[in-house]
Amino acid sequence: MLTQHLNPLTPVEIHQLALKEVPGIGLATVYRSLKSLAAEGHVVAVEIPGQAPRYERADKGHHHHFMCRECKGVFELETCLDGIKGMAPNGFRVDDHEIILYGVCENCLSKGLGTTPSHPAHAACGHTH
Ligand SMILES: [Zn+2]
Ligand SMILES: [Zn+2]
Repeated sequence: MLTQHLNPLTPVEIHQLALKEVPGIGLATVYRSLKSLAAEGHVVAVEIPGQAPRYERADKGHHHHFMCRECKGVFELETCLDGIKGMAPNGFRVDDHEIILYGVCENCLSKGLGTTPSHPAHAACGHTH
């Protein structure tokens, strides 16, 4: 059920999609199968602070995410930053990193949403917290 969907989905979203294919399937069943898919390494959890964990296929390789603050949609980014390991102090070893971009997606912008920054003090730098 995750295979056709590019963007990471919450268990509730996956449940809604699964219901179209398997009428009557319970949310608990979706949680259980996500757990075993994760244990087998087929899906990975995408943790976004303040958000329910989302799941996506594990075979996509290194990538990052963009979160729309209007629709709360999470989108995949294909690019990473060169030289990100250089941010760590000398003598430190970097094993992994997380980058989440926050903003407004194309769809929401086209509906005229997201024109007022949620936090005016941060309007210039694009931060939404
Ligand atoms: Zn959006
Ligand atoms: Zn990266």
